[in-house]
Amino acid sequence: MQAALTCADRGHEVVLCEKNERLGGILLCEEDVPFKRALARYLRLQSELLERAGVDIRTGTRVTPAYAADIGADAVIAALGARPVALAISGIDGPNVLSAEEAYRHPASVGDRSVILGAGLVGTELAIYLSMLGKKVRIAEMKGEISDGGNFIHARAIAAEVARYAIDILFFAKAVLIDARGVHCETPAGDRYLESDTVIYASGQRPLRDEARALGRAASEFYQIGDCVSPKNIMEATATAYEAARNIGRPDRV
Ligand SMILES: Cc1cc2nc3c(=O)[nH]c(=O)nc-3n(C[C@H](O)[C@H](O)[C@H](O)COP(=O)(O)OP(=O)(O)OC[C@H]3O[C@@H](n4cnc5c(N)ncnc54)[C@H](O)[C@@H]3O)c2cc1C
Repeated sequence: MQAALTCADRGHEVVLCEKNERLGGILLCEEDVPFKRALARYLRLQSELLERAGVDIRTGTRVTPAYAADIGADAVIAALGARPVALAISGIDGPNVLSAEEAYRHPASVGDRSVILGAGLVGTELAIYLSMLGKKVRIAEMKGEISDGGNFIHARAIAAEVARYAIDILFFAKAVLIDARGVHCETPAGDRYLESDTVIYASGQRPLRDEARALGRAASEFYQIGDCVSPKNIMEATATAYEAARNIGRPDRV
C-alpha cells in the first residue's frame, strides 16, 4: 500500500493488486484486537489515501507471472508477504492446532485452555489478547526470554501485561509432540506435558521470496519489498516500500 502511494505521489500510473477481497495484508487478522486499534485506523487511512490518489485497486486478484506481464508495466514491485512456519513435529496438523493468524481471526475456535508455542511478539501479544477474552493461556518457549524483535520498550510493555494477566511462560521448553490433549515439551528439568484444548504455533514466518522472484521477468525494473524479503515489521516494510518507489526510473538505483 505504501509503495503504491509513493509511486502515485511521484506521478506514476499505478495498479495495486491484492489476492484477498480487502487491502491490509496480514495485519487485518488483528483488527478486532483492542490494543491494536491504531493499526486498524492506519490501514483504513492507507486505503482512503489510495482511493484519493486514483490508484487502480484490483482486489480479489492473484498476480501470476503471466498476469504481471499482461499489464505491461515498466516496473513491478512485489510485496507478497510471508506465511506462518509450522513446527516440524508430530501432531502439528491435528484439528486442535492453529496458527497465530488463525487464532487471531477466529478466537472463538480457541478452547478455554490453550498453549502457544513461541514467546516472540506475535505469541505474547496473542496470549494477552486471548487472556482478555477470558481464556487461560500458557506459552512454551525454547529460549530463555521473550523475543522482543529489537524493541526493548515494547518488550517491557509486553512483560507488564504478561504479569497482569498471569500468563505462564515456560522457558527453555522445546515442543516435541502434540496430541489430542496437549503438548509434550523437553525442558532442562525433564519432560513436561502441557494439557490444553488448543495448541497455537507462533514460531515465525516464511518469506514468500521465491513466489515474489517469479514475477521478476514481468518488467524491466523489479523490486521485492517487505516481509517477502525478510519478515520484520511495518516500519521496515514501509521503509523498503518508500525506497523502491523512489528508485523507479533511476539508472543508478541499488
Ligand atoms: C500475527 C502478526 C501480527 C503482527 N503485528 C505487528 C504489529 O503489531 N506491528 C508491526 O510493526 N508489525 C506486525 N507484524 C508484522 C507485519 O504485519 C509485517 O511486517 C507487515 O504486514 C509486512 O507487510 P507486507 O506488505 O510485506 O506483507 P503482508 O502484510 O503479509 O501483505 C502481503 C499481501 O500480499 C498479498 N499477496 C500475496 N501473494 C499475492 C499475489 N500473488 N497476488 C496478489 N496479492 C498477493 C497477500 O494476500 C497480502 O495481503 C505482525 C505479523 C504477524 C504475523
